[in-house]
Amino acid sequence: MKPDIRIGYGWDSHEFKPGIPLKIGGVKLEHTHGLGGHSDGDVLLHALTDALLGAVAAPDIGALFPPSDPKWKGADSAVFLHEALERVSGAGYEVINVDSTLVLAAPKIGPYAAALREHVATLLGIAPDCVGIKAKTPEGMGTDHAAIAHAVVLIAKS
Ligand SMILES: [Zn+2]
Repeated sequence: MKPDIRIGYGWDSHEFKPGIPLKIGGVKLEHTHGLGGHSDGDVLLHALTDALLGAVAAPDIGALFPPSDPKWKGADSAVFLHEALERVSGAGYEVINVDSTLVLAAPKIGPYAAALREHVATLLGIAPDCVGIKAKTPEGMGTDHAAIAHAVVLIAKS
């Protein structure tokens, strides 16, 4: 019998804009720029949301929460993550762990990594040691004006 586990993968990017708050993984980071976008621009929560949705073959974040819908303007991205978790539990699965990589020139994620891990774990209802948060600078990519997030999730039949 095959083990009833699934993986999901998500990717997102948002452009830095001056003078707006920066939120990554639901945590406010001190920076001169924030991430633009129709919701709060939380690139990490969006990548995690798409990873969860992908794991249960649900429609993606853009289909469920269209940027054209004024309802989602400035929305807290935790709402999107919550809906994705509902889809996962509705399909009979629970989250085992997640891993992620942020690609951004600034700010440095290191000082915030523990807080990010803790907060994302709380949002997902899993332990902080089941949340990977890694960060890289975009060497040679020419994407210093943007933040990018990659995320993978593992879910298992509950
Ligand atoms: Zn996004």
